[in-house]
Amino acid sequence: MLLDLAEYYVEQNRARDKKSALLRGRTIINLFFENSTRTRTSFELAGKRLGGDVVNISAEASSIKKGETLIDTAMTLNAMLPDVLVVRHPDSGGVKLLSEKVNCAVINGGDGTHEHPTQALLDALAIRRRKGRLQGLTVAICGDILHSRVCRSNIHLLNTMGARVRVIGPPTLVPETIDRLGVEVFHDMKAGLRNCDIVMMLRLQTERMQGSFVPSIREYFHFFGLDHDKLACAKPDALIMHPGPMNRGVEIDSEVADDIDRSLIREQVEMGVAVRMACLDLLTRTLASNAPPNGGARA
Ligand code: ASP
Repeated sequence: MLLDLAEYYVEQNRARDKKSALLRGRTIINLFFENSTRTRTSFELAGKRLGGDVVNISAEASSIKKGETLIDTAMTLNAMLPDVLVVRHPDSGGVKLLSEKVNCAVINGGDGTHEHPTQALLDALAIRRRKGRLQGLTVAICGDILHSRVCRSNIHLLNTMGARVRVIGPPTLVPETIDRLGVEVFHDMKAGLRNCDIVMMLRLQTERMQGSFVPSIREYFHFFGLDHDKLACAKPDALIMHPGPMNRGVEIDSEVADDIDRSLIREQVEMGVAVRMACLDLLTRTLASNAPPNGGARA
């Protein structure tokens, strides 16, 4: 249902007049404790295109820098009566903790290495639009599986929608117990990519690494970087995805990333706005039907 609603917003976003009044009078606060380009901007655009008031707060420019705790920041913002808080936090579970302290709806914009649900939703929408379905597709998620919240959210969503998920990466970057999430594990790119419909590349998330996980960037690219040679092992019509930000020449070769016939990367960004509009729409409808106003709902 959310993906169907997002389809509607894809059309609205492609029209000349992109704005509606659905969220008129509603306040959305984007609270980002970690850097973001796509997620923050697309939530801002989503809120504005639905007619809401959107406020952006980044940790760098807030009292968090002065030593205020996460909970105090949450309570402070809560006192301003927002309807929705979109939160990104470097600690897994940070967003859930915050959601327990406020009365408004909270959307997870990425928490540590744990989850990034709206990324998985936009990925599903991008795949469904190109392939017409998710059911029965084989999706290979490749690279730094260990540190990737995008990977975890995609595994849950794709499995739920009937796709088959493989993860591919060096043993140092694939958690030993990941097969419990219902995925097949490969440590060789060419073997893992065989007959895949979708190749989803992940960034090496060095900001989350303590110590060294790969011998060198050159060697990593040689074995795990996506280039045309490795891509040839996937199905001839396999599509390439990447949540961004991309590190060209590290996990992906520029020629592959920019291949307009195979790469879904730009479409993923476009779908991000539509999916986040659908999330805000559904969530505020839920809020409207839940008395008392501004109370209790969470996502
Ligand atoms: N943008 C995605 C995230 O926030 C992926 C990445 O940073 O590599 O998790």
